Amino acid sequence: MSDATEYVVVFPTLWIVPDWIEHHCLMPSAMADPAPLVMYDWQLWCTVNHYRIKPGALPAGTVKPDGSRVAPAAAFEHRRSQIVAVQKVGKGPWSASIICAEAVGPVVFDGFAEAGDTFECADHGCDCGWSYEYEPGEPMGKPWVRPLIQLLATSEDQTDNVYGPLQTMIREGRLASRMRVGEGFIRLPNDGRIDQVTSKAQSKLGNPVTFVLQDETGLYTKSNGMVLVAQTQRRGAAGMGGRSMETTNPWDPAENSTAQQTYESRAKDVFRFYRMPPSGLSYANKAERRKIHAFNYAGSLHVDLDVIEGESAELQETDPAQAERFFGGRLVRGQGSWYQPDQWESGKSEIGVPDGAEVCLGFDGSDNDDWTGIRLRTFDGHRFTPTYGPDKRPTVWNPSEWNGSIPRGEVNAAVDELCRRYKVIRAYCDPRDWQSEIGDWALRFGDKVFLEWATYRAAHMHDALVRSVTDLLSGRSTHDACPITAAHVGNARKIAKPGDRYILGKPNRHQKIDMAMADVLAWEAGEDAKTDPKMLWIGRAADNFVYFG
Ligand SMILES: [Zn+2]
Repeated sequence: MSDATEYVVVFPTLWIVPDWIEHHCLMPSAMADPAPLVMYDWQLWCTVNHYRIKPGALPAGTVKPDGSRVAPAAAFEHRRSQIVAVQKVGKGPWSASIICAEAVGPVVFDGFAEAGDTFECADHGCDCGWSYEYEPGEPMGKPWVRPLIQLLATSEDQTDNVYGPLQTMIREGRLASRMRVGEGFIRLPNDGRIDQVTSKAQSKLGNPVTFVLQDETGLYTKSNGMVLVAQTQRRGAAGMGGRSMETTNPWDPAENSTAQQTYESRAKDVFRFYRMPPSGLSYANKAERRKIHAFNYAGSLHVDLDVIEGESAELQETDPAQAERFFGGRLVRGQGSWYQPDQWESGKSEIGVPDGAEVCLGFDGSDNDDWTGIRLRTFDGHRFTPTYGPDKRPTVWNPSEWNGSIPRGEVNAAVDELCRRYKVIRAYCDPRDWQSEIGDWALRFGDKVFLEWATYRAAHMHDALVRSVTDLLSGRSTHDACPITAAHVGNARKIAKPGDRYILGKPNRHQKIDMAMADVLAWEAGEDAKTDPKMLWIGRAADNFVYFG
């Protein structure tokens, strides 16, 4: 992107759209007052390609000889667009500006201009006074009458990548009179609206829409249900003559995500933008990595390469493949999923565990970002998420449901109740952030029962992870239908460690794996308890362990 002549526009397009955006959308900034958005070359290139018009196209709504009307999407060369670029390069604010244009800007093709044709904001309910003079023959645009827009992401946290800058653009820019930020959605003229949706919003998916932005499609997989959601949503757009756009980081080619499917599909009416860095450079080598970053971030003037290097270096410690994808811009295969999608499902069983049963416990704690959870297992090999308290809450705590931090009192109460209700024979607890609580539990329930088990120890962790999978696949172990544990197990990725070992990591900050960790610890505690020479197993008839400590 250092070389602007790389992008040559020799086709008709709605030039009015980028001009409208630069006039109406202000860019949020942490350091200064919002400033007009001026598109980088790559952003302008993606914009003019998305709004590229077919030569001889007919204006939307024109009645055809057979009596049907020309759909708005029919004028465009591209039915949809896919923009693949590295982290922090400016995809979020740019796609927010496209949403603004789709909401109240001149994005619907309205025929080719004749000499003297202009676009006047005043004719379209905007009091900013802006007007645009078309060249003769240039494609003209008009706003949607009733714009219906959806912004899709894997989670609500993730929609903020775009929704955050979008809200600022509306509040600070020249759009506040026509776009109103409400609770969870944005109101547009004529009952139009912009909704943030995730896969949970089943009722909204497939609704007729005029524009869809699908963000981070590299995370949409078959197993998390998002591939289907993305297809359903695109059908909703097609039904209205609307169009869609995908934005994403480079994906893991082992996952067959929506991003990968779009990129590899043979469809000619999809505009794809992905500048891969030169292949001769090694991402593991610091000097060459800098050249790769310089290539990826050229033209994105807000980016400081030292900051990118710092963030990449940190991510490389835990997940070098992800660092190379997110900042290096390459399609690097990760270690892959811990469980394959159907494997975990295959162990599901509806065994009930009565109070008083002998169990082992696994605990993975956190403070304010990750979740905290407890899993139990029986000596018959059944793993489950217990409940506690009068409301029978499952023993999993998401800090965002508890004012941003883990409710330690709740966790203590749950441990207390579990130790009363079951015979807890052994409990393995990851000590990070929870050392003093674990010390208390050991005092109260036995220091041979509650033990610290640090999950960062690669050799131990690797063995426990392998055992968990083999025992489940061989049928020695079953588990309950806890949806959170299933999701966390599905999220867990293998991260390579020296000596052909692996530990577990998250695919990104928003996809948690804590219940998977708690599950492994519970399983491991039980396996160790059974083989501990100090422990005499006297059989289920006696209904007890006797500990000779
Ligand atoms: Zn205006």
